[in-house]
Amino acid sequence: MIPCRETKQEEAHVTASTPLQVIEHLADTPCQKHNCTKCCETGTGTALESDLPHIADTLNVPLNEVKDKYFEPVTRFHTTHWKPKMVSKPYGACVFLGKEGCSIHSVRPTGCRLASWNHHGEKLNDWFDLNYFVNKNDAQSVREWAMKLKFSKTIPGGELEALVPDKEKLRKILSHEI
Ligand code: SF4
Repeated sequence: MIPCRETKQEEAHVTASTPLQVIEHLADTPCQKHNCTKCCETGTGTALESDLPHIADTLNVPLNEVKDKYFEPVTRFHTTHWKPKMVSKPYGACVFLGKEGCSIHSVRPTGCRLASWNHHGEKLNDWFDLNYFVNKNDAQSVREWAMKLKFSKTIPGGELEALVPDKEKLRKILSHEI
């Protein structure tokens, strides 16, 4: 059993502009309580640049060293952030996963906190992508998001027309004219 799937089953209307505080509540899952590390055994969450100084402070290691040793860039929708390295690829455990769970739990990356795979996982992951990866001012980012939407639905506010309300501009983006 994956405990997070059993929690947070309340109805939730998640849109691209749902406030962070609401997302934090929906994403909060009892991984530690249940000693569950399934997500961390085969992948890692996205870290924002602003997460890294907190992690460096906690580890008491210079920021550049933390970046080099423990993180690698991750690019989605033409936007690059960071993610903890894995001990082996393509599906190894996170370098921060220890016997007692996440060794940096209190300062774990934003993606580990918010893009959980609980009952609302698909909505939370779309919210995360829309708020941290998809850049409506970057034509390539919009095109890559459009490609994803060919194969899956999204949350309200994630539709192409919501991202780029100007129909002519959207047409030009999708036809690679801009
Ligand atoms: S940083 Fe912590 S929570 Fe995030 S994937 Fe690694 S072990 Fe899991």
